[in-house]
Amino acid sequence: MKKIAVIGGGAAGMSCAVLLAKRGFSVSLLERGERLGRKLSATGNGQGNVTNVRMGAEHYFSDDPAKVARILSRFGAEEAVAFLSSMGGIFLPDARGRVYPAGRQASAVTDLFRRELRRAGVDICLGAQVKELSYDGGFRLAWEGGHMRADAVVLAAGGKAAEHFGTDGSAYALAEGFGHTVSPLSPALVRLRCDPSSVKGLKGIRVDASLSLRRGGKEVFRGRGDVLFTENGISGDAVFRASSYAKEGDLVLLDLLPDVPEERLAAAAAGREEPFLCILNNGLARALYARAKGEELLSLAKNFPLTVRGTAGFPEAQVTKGGIPLRETDENLMSRFREGLYFAGEILDADGECGGYNLHWAFASAYTVAEGMK
Ligand SMILES: Cc1cc2nc3c(=O)[nH]c(=O)nc-3n(C[C@H](O)[C@H](O)[C@H](O)COP(=O)(O)OP(=O)(O)OC[C@H]3O[C@@H](n4cnc5c(N)ncnc54)[C@H](O)[C@@H]3O)c2cc1C
Repeated sequence: MKKIAVIGGGAAGMSCAVLLAKRGFSVSLLERGERLGRKLSATGNGQGNVTNVRMGAEHYFSDDPAKVARILSRFGAEEAVAFLSSMGGIFLPDARGRVYPAGRQASAVTDLFRRELRRAGVDICLGAQVKELSYDGGFRLAWEGGHMRADAVVLAAGGKAAEHFGTDGSAYALAEGFGHTVSPLSPALVRLRCDPSSVKGLKGIRVDASLSLRRGGKEVFRGRGDVLFTENGISGDAVFRASSYAKEGDLVLLDLLPDVPEERLAAAAAGREEPFLCILNNGLARALYARAKGEELLSLAKNFPLTVRGTAGFPEAQVTKGGIPLRETDENLMSRFREGLYFAGEILDADGECGGYNLHWAFASAYTVAEGMK
């Protein structure tokens, strides 16, 4: 029986291991941590936003968008829900198309995987950080205190984001050893840093805003959603989406009242002592009064400016932009440089928007590998 080693016990690695074992392969799943699926258990604010019914390649960034589209055409949201439901549970979309387990508990999704891995007979090795991967007619893997041989290897060791979940970027070197490159890495779905003075007094205030990201006078992103002011910047789902496009020096304009046209705001606020009372959050209103008056005050509410000073970086990012180029893999995500070496999940140069797209990529790429494994 062909022996396959899957490196990384995250969403992609666990999916791949389950699917390969069900196809009759002998599978070992190697995870450097002491538990499987730690990151999966923390997703979606602990609720596990596993996919999105509005699935499509336009929600992804990658070196090879056409390949992402082909993979998604074979494994879309319906397939993701069917795959997860085949292990148990019920998965339901919310009004924005984001799919969650009905119990709204990400850790329970990890439990589904653990149960299924056991049932499928996958050999699970915890505390096994693969540090050496070589080929001498077959693959040889080594970690502190252990080693193994395999006929094929799936590298599903994640990216560089949120290092505390075991993903510090060190696993890229395992692929580089076979001649792979790593396209430039940057943190995505992450808080944006701004001048602390520009958000002074706003920490903790959350608004439903429309966010326009501008560079050289041109809009590079527009989105609507939660914006949370922090000590030195902004967070929230609208900001996470913008962070995939943001560069230092970009201008953010926040419409703090996206459902209120300017004329209506002007009419309601005109001549009032506290013009934004019952219009804006009081704390936010006070911060605006301290900054401007009259016309300027109104325009500040519709176009609150912030200059991007960078992001909160990899430790706080949800996902990694960049990675092993898809172009260095074939249609089954097998390495073009070493037959039998496959890639799945965030380690690849494909990242999605906020809303379930990254877990979906983990499942879809794992499915592609498992189906294509010869
Ligand atoms: C806080 C947070 C919330 C998120 N929420 C969502 C969400 O709601 N929806 C969504 O779609 N996406 C979300 N994401 C992104 C999503 O979780 C990831 O994109 C996805 O988990 C990537 O899956 P993966 O299996 O490729 O990598 P990971 O889940 O990162 O798993 C990789 C695993 O490999 C292990 N590993 C690394 N190196 C080695 C090695 N050398 N040997 C052995 N094991 C190794 C790591 O310990 C890790 O367990 C979130 C991310 C974070 C951090």
